[in-house]
Amino acid sequence: MLLITSARIASEHSPDLTEADVYLADGKIQRIGKGIQVPEGTRTLDARGRILMPGMFDAHVHFREPGFEAKETIASGAEAAINGGVTGVVMMPNTSPALDNGTVIGQVLDIARRTARIPVYTSGCVTKGRHGKELAGIDGMRAHGVVMLTDDGDTTGDPAVLLRAMQYATEFGMFFASHCEVPELAGPRALNEGAMSYRLGIKGSPACAEEIIIDRDIRLAHAAGAHIHIQHVSSKLGMETIRWWKQRGDVKVTAEIAPHHLLFTDEDIGDYDTHYKMNPPLRTKADNEALLEGLIDGTFDLIATDHAPHTPFEKSQDFVSAPNGITGLDTALVSLHHHFVATGKFGWDLLVKRFSAEPRRFMGLPVAAIEEGLPVDLVLFDPERETTFTADFMKSKSRNTPFLDQTLKGSVDLVVLGGEILLDRA
Ligand SMILES: [Zn+2]
Repeated sequence: MLLITSARIASEHSPDLTEADVYLADGKIQRIGKGIQVPEGTRTLDARGRILMPGMFDAHVHFREPGFEAKETIASGAEAAINGGVTGVVMMPNTSPALDNGTVIGQVLDIARRTARIPVYTSGCVTKGRHGKELAGIDGMRAHGVVMLTDDGDTTGDPAVLLRAMQYATEFGMFFASHCEVPELAGPRALNEGAMSYRLGIKGSPACAEEIIIDRDIRLAHAAGAHIHIQHVSSKLGMETIRWWKQRGDVKVTAEIAPHHLLFTDEDIGDYDTHYKMNPPLRTKADNEALLEGLIDGTFDLIATDHAPHTPFEKSQDFVSAPNGITGLDTALVSLHHHFVATGKFGWDLLVKRFSAEPRRFMGLPVAAIEEGLPVDLVLFDPERETTFTADFMKSKSRNTPFLDQTLKGSVDLVVLGGEILLDRA
């Protein structure tokens, strides 16, 4: 039993924050109002000035189990999520073995149920071993509740196989998510092709390597009548391609944006800093600005972190050899607040919509909200208190983030899910 008083409640439906008291008991939001009578012994938390919102949901995370548990396990990934105010995630299937059949999906979901304190869902591969050639065990994965199919980490190589998968799986309500990249154009996947790649003397990956597959995969979905979701878009023209298809209105296309593609550019790589190496790569200021527009106008349905943990040893290799990706779960909510909400670029309503409500709708899950009668799934956030992302603060097993040791405005103070307080810094 918990009474949170004078919280400012954020909702996807309105930019205004309503101040109210919120009473939680038996895993439910029992009452919202003023002067609520509560049973004796109820803990009261004065939340004056703080924001109460539903838990975030990240539809793109890499939890590395099975196969790469030194980078992350399902349990440690879930703790990183809670640390950042995220109360549900969807794993990508590029583990080892890859998640391409019902047996391994069943094992992973069993580990998740036993070890993670938040719901962990998973996607499954489109093709066996993510090799792009032969259909994966779609029926077996569906039997375990998989709805999203993707060869994330790579593009599904053979478009004929992807089209067949779309024609087959769509009738069962499954949908497809695409990592977009022509491998022959992307080269060693180091960084954006442009002024920075010339300066550093590394073969870059041109934006067209991504844009070609964005268009290819939407066209395939159009032909098959499938739902296609475009993952981690990094370029302006890629965003405009999605917008054009959405405006046509004859194909179901959704898209996601990762915080790092809004915040950083290839210039940040500076002296070969591998904490700015990811795939698709960071591009330019003009891309950042266009992508932010795309987030605000709804071209991007959701924000997803592409949380990609790697060990310090791996990330300390030279720029070309180091693996792609950065962690995102510990830092996403605070960094989005610091850079966008606190600066007035967008409001809490947009953040809640794109990082909590839409990702759950997209997965066919009930939407979390601060409303009477709903199950408790909430975050209390202090917009004034600062967070310093020290190695100790991070709950991910890995520390590969550009935010390491940075201090940003905002703090995840409390996370409650059902009847359980998952995090308490209040
Ligand atoms: Zn990817």
